Amino acid sequence: MSRDAARARVAMVEGQLRRRGIRDERVLAAMERVPRERFVPAVLARDAYDDGALPIGAGQTISQPYMVAAMCELLALQGGERVLDVGTGSGYAAAVLAELAADVVSIERIPVLAERARATLAAAGYARVDVRVGDGSLGVADRAPFDAIAVAAAAPDVPPALPAQLGPGGRIVVPRGTRWSQQLVLLTASRTGLVERGTVACRFVPLVGAGGFEDDGEPLS
Ligand code: SAH
Repeated sequence: MSRDAARARVAMVEGQLRRRGIRDERVLAAMERVPRERFVPAVLARDAYDDGALPIGAGQTISQPYMVAAMCELLALQGGERVLDVGTGSGYAAAVLAELAADVVSIERIPVLAERARATLAAAGYARVDVRVGDGSLGVADRAPFDAIAVAAAAPDVPPALPAQLGPGGRIVVPRGTRWSQQLVLLTASRTGLVERGTVACRFVPLVGAGGFEDDGEPLS
């Protein structure tokens, strides 16, 4: 399995990432290293390197590899940063971020997913990721300021608590729009305020919380 997985990772990096315009060599190398098959349910391990999102339980998904790469590239990480990952899910994006930055804090609202992600991250060698349970639309105040914040769930607008937890020159990527369709937006903190740049169209699961959408009461199955 693991040699097959290594081959599948190289094919993913070439076919899904480089070919579609991901240029940051650190991002490409990180995605070639992280064993995505360990972050999906065992029955889906063979589909781990498919070009799409996959279900991880509790009605949530592990994001498409391209989306993880695009978000990481927009954050322009150099290696020394402290990063906040909102929406831990499987923990996969947190692992990629841990390859790219010095310090990763990841927050998930669904406790069972956070517990599973914590175990997966530890088993895959990423025990230093600080996994929290809570409403990530409020950030993680006790670990702020962050150099970069990646929001992996769709928000109607940029949750106001997040820019407030950003250091000078810090960056946020967030899918902004409706529950059904969004645009990935990059915000950069400058001396004169936040500078905004719209990027690709995307579709993420909703950010549910104070700075996101209301819980629609769908069962977490
Ligand atoms: N980055 C993840 C993708 C997970 S999908 C991965 O690599 O697997 C988005 C996740 O955000 C879901 O697990 C969902 O439960 C979580 N989420 C939604 N609203 C949240 C909130 N307010 N705070 C923290 N996590 C939230």
